[in-house]
Amino acid sequence: MTVTQQASAHGTERGLPRLSRTEMKAVGQVRKRGPLSRTAIAELLDTSRASVTSIVGNLMEMNVLTEVGHGKSDGGRRPRLLDINAGLGFIAGVDIGATSVDLALADFRGEILERRSDVADVRTAPDQLLNTINDMVSEMLNQHGADDSHLLGIGMGVPGPVHFPTGVLIRPPLMPAWEGFPIKDFLRDRFPNARPVVDNDVNIMALGEASVGGGVGLDNFFYIKIGTGIGCGIIVDGEIYRGSDGCAGDVGHICVDYNGPICHCGNAGCLEFMAAGPAMAEKARLAAKNGEGKLLAKALKDKDGQLTSVDVGEAAAAGDQAANKIIEESGRMIGGVLAGLVNFYNPKAIFIGGGVSNIGHQFLSTIRQATLRRATALSTRSLQIDYSKLGSDAGVHGAIWLAIENTFALA
Ligand SMILES: [Zn+2]
Repeated sequence: MTVTQQASAHGTERGLPRLSRTEMKAVGQVRKRGPLSRTAIAELLDTSRASVTSIVGNLMEMNVLTEVGHGKSDGGRRPRLLDINAGLGFIAGVDIGATSVDLALADFRGEILERRSDVADVRTAPDQLLNTINDMVSEMLNQHGADDSHLLGIGMGVPGPVHFPTGVLIRPPLMPAWEGFPIKDFLRDRFPNARPVVDNDVNIMALGEASVGGGVGLDNFFYIKIGTGIGCGIIVDGEIYRGSDGCAGDVGHICVDYNGPICHCGNAGCLEFMAAGPAMAEKARLAAKNGEGKLLAKALKDKDGQLTSVDVGEAAAAGDQAANKIIEESGRMIGGVLAGLVNFYNPKAIFIGGGVSNIGHQFLSTIRQATLRRATALSTRSLQIDYSKLGSDAGVHGAIWLAIENTFALA
């Protein structure tokens, strides 16, 4: 039986079987820690082996769980291991950035089957951009012998504040045309069996890091995205923390200089206005014009007056002192804010992603030093600060992870 036949033969009219609360808990443990034996599931759910045997029996009958081999023996017979049935259906993960879109098609274990990227302008009308994305998802499904009806979950990250229960953007500065647009309904019109979920881009990146990146096995950590803006995804006890209105982690507007320049939010001296990619590029442009950075001046000329933070990183690596100073200033401001967050929350790790994480090691080491210098000794004793292990893949991995979770949660 092919993957798609399995999915349609065992799914309900909505694509997935309905699960009881206990079945959902068992599935959740297998997703997070699988493959697992029946005994291990019983221990994790704090229930009897007999009741787990019955739960697992139902889940196997519904084709949600499948046996994938044997584990180590602890004296008796080797236990049979259970995992999510990868062939239950297809999942799409979409990460919309300000100027690009990253997509992936995955199976139910989160294994990526196909990955695509394209340029995209997030300022275009939502139906236009979403139609382009939907067409790409359909193409990927077709490549794998499936059609739109075989997509059972779709996770989407967007660069703006999201009201999580409805998946609607609220006053998104980068994409004003999307205000109030019913993204989930639009996706459901195209993929009738898919359960859509929409979240802020930084949250899905943090979830990606938690599911397959440096955060695997860590219960408490931050994911900091530094690009055009600065945002923070917060993992608490293994789950994303969204706050009461869905905008937790908006650290870009923490003040680092009360006498600083006025940010687009109207306040003075916001971290992202002073330290993120555009601020670094603007400082580099000024340094080049003032004759302070020879390599920056050359880059400015070569690139027709358009510098980015990556150009600053390259100039610094080649020995440009002005570029070095710009990187250190940004790193110190970001590290200073992180120190406050570390004192407040005591995470095990901080992973740094986003476009500005591509500018080299000096930026990371400045952030590290500034954080460690200011935070308390106990909170930094075992603190790890690193670039994201997943780079630009963090978003799609997180979108897939969230989509699978959402699919089971509502089943
Ligand atoms: Zn601001």
